[in-house]
Amino acid sequence: MLIERVWAANEYRNFHYLIACPESGEALAVDPLEWRRCLDVARARGWSITQILNTHEHRDHTGGNPGLVAATGCKVLAHAEAASRIGGVDRGLKKGDTIRVGRTVELECLDTPGHTMAHICLLAHNEPALFSGDTLFNAGAGNCHSSGRPDLLFETFTQQLARLPEATRLYPGHEYLVRNLEFSLDREPGNAAAAALLERCRGGDPSAAPVTTLGEEKAINSFFRLQNPELIARLRAKFPDIGSQPDAKTVFLKLRELRNKW
Ligand SMILES: [Zn+2]
Ligand SMILES: [Zn+2]
Repeated sequence: MLIERVWAANEYRNFHYLIACPESGEALAVDPLEWRRCLDVARARGWSITQILNTHEHRDHTGGNPGLVAATGCKVLAHAEAASRIGGVDRGLKKGDTIRVGRTVELECLDTPGHTMAHICLLAHNEPALFSGDTLFNAGAGNCHSSGRPDLLFETFTQQLARLPEATRLYPGHEYLVRNLEFSLDREPGNAAAAALLERCRGGDPSAAPVTTLGEEKAINSFFRLQNPELIARLRAKFPDIGSQPDAKTVFLKLRELRNKW
């Protein structure tokens, strides 16, 4: 499996991905808003884009579909429940479905509601990798402003994402690393791993941002650190009513609420 991250260099700070079969040169494009950039990268590698995967229905993920379909004739894949809102979807996906790219690549569809109610994360098993759309970002979590539900995002984090292998490499839909690390440190000033990564990445070129693993995320991402004593103590200072031993869901929901205004 070959993975190419394409930095959109737009105001939304999108990351697009090409996932290609090294034997056949067929490629799948994840959320290719700036589709010409994706096409240029594919051509430079000698790949042909045969499929688009939209993680969810938001325009900053689907807006490139018509252009890329017109240029390549590729098929569009998306969550079955989001298909009517996206339009032009050739294959509606559900939990557990497999997407094949060429002869060698197999990707599993995870049903990961929270940011929206119909959101797919793609999981590669052989070389563990997660394409997480707007569900999980480097050092952060997706918002729930547009028809999402924070309680379901909590379920997705704890029941699915936190249980994946720690070596799983993370490929999110946007580049928000520095801002999210600043939030992590605001919540947990003693987090040395977050401080070290912020030091390394602040002011850097987003197209060269590091690819983290889920193991690293568990060290730097507040939304995976729901039992951390410092984080809980600082949360209690803002929300005294959560008590001395708030459950993980309460911590997650309060973090999400704080991040909305932070
Ligand atoms: Zn979104
Ligand atoms: Zn987005």
